[in-house]
Amino acid sequence: MSRLTSKLFVISGPSGAGKGTLVARVRAELPSLGLTVSATTRSPREGEVDGVNYYFLSKEEFERRVNAGEFVEWAHVHGNCYGTLVSEVRGKLDSGSSLILEIDVQGALQVKERFPDAVLIFIKPPSLAVLRERLVGRGTESPEMVELRLSNAESELALADRYDEVLVNDDLDQAVAELSRIIRSYERN
Ligand code: ADP
Ligand code: 5GP
Repeated sequence: MSRLTSKLFVISGPSGAGKGTLVARVRAELPSLGLTVSATTRSPREGEVDGVNYYFLSKEEFERRVNAGEFVEWAHVHGNCYGTLVSEVRGKLDSGSSLILEIDVQGALQVKERFPDAVLIFIKPPSLAVLRERLVGRGTESPEMVELRLSNAESELALADRYDEVLVNDDLDQAVAELSRIIRSYERN
């Protein structure tokens, strides 16, 4: 049997592209993949739990942690601050399991600077029209937030060529299979 290497995978893509859905499906197939919980200043959505979906922090607390050097990366995204805590990453990679960071494009490029071996995977929607349908269909955003997220999508899509892998999430089952294949192929190297 070939040896597997623990890797840091970074998943980005426009809001509504299907990152959360794909990551949940792939983790069900590859349960050893660890996931980090990010910190954010945005308010919890219905059903979201502090410490599970995100660490929900006030702006003041987020800023205090930035100044204390507690983040691997952080960024302003869609009007709020989001970041990956050092404490979430430390130890998990050494323990031998791979880790997935689901973060925005600015954060992904910061991670690549800090961890050049990180594998950056960009998730694209089939089209902007489908992206809109998915964002609206998810029913979690106000109409203003949908527009903000869609207008940010174009500048995010423009950075896809900075990623190691680009995957179009059209048919969900096919996209899950492709993402699993990509992850396994890097773990084998
Ligand atoms: P993101 O995490 O990128 O913001 P989500 O995973 O929340 O996106 O997906 C946005 C919406 O699109 C959700 O309602 C999800 O069920 C749906 N969705 C995700 N992937 C697909 C797909 N391949 N086909 C159809 N709907 C999808
Ligand atoms: P949402 O508000 O829909 O949960 O997330 C909005 C955006 O924030 C998504 O593009 C997501 O990838 C990004 N995001 C979530 N966590 C982090 C993080 O820790 N760092 C950065 N830079 N972006 C994040």
